[in-house]
Amino acid sequence: MFFAQKDTVIHLLYDIEPADSMVYFNKVRVHKQCYSALKKMIEDAKKENIYIGIRSAYRDSAEQAYQFYYLGDLYKQTIQQRLKHTAPPKYSEHHTGFAIDFMDLQYPNVNYGINFEKTPTFKWLQKNACRYGFVLSFPPNNKQNIQYEPWHWRYEGNEYARSKFEKSYLYRYSNCDK
Ligand SMILES: [Zn+2]
Repeated sequence: MFFAQKDTVIHLLYDIEPADSMVYFNKVRVHKQCYSALKKMIEDAKKENIYIGIRSAYRDSAEQAYQFYYLGDLYKQTIQQRLKHTAPPKYSEHHTGFAIDFMDLQYPNVNYGINFEKTPTFKWLQKNACRYGFVLSFPPNNKQNIQYEPWHWRYEGNEYARSKFEKSYLYRYSNCDK
């Protein structure tokens, strides 16, 4: 087990999955191997009056570059600051198509941030997402030293999806524990 030094952020390299492995889920692309689990989870949540939306999912290298460089420049962040919460291109879980940024459709203004934790969607996900194969990628105090991201979940519900995250298990074995 490795532990990140204080102030060191560890991002892992990911293959960029081909776009033809993706399918559209409303306006975002997700890996076709997690589509049905995702759909079922969102439908089941709805039956309990929880309205889960998706802010972002699959990103190719150019889209990640936009997030990292363009938005980082816009907010005048140093590289060290942006590394804390954004992966550089080629290092994002979003390249797999299995990482999903959720939102609560009843509270659409609760954006990327710690406040997402207070939404009914987060509370529901925390209790139920594991049953559909979704786990929180970056919990508080994770050993990669990446900022806590309550909105960012990844699908590990089958062998192929799990194989994509193999390297991260050096830092945390994040298989569903429920
Ligand atoms: Zn994300």
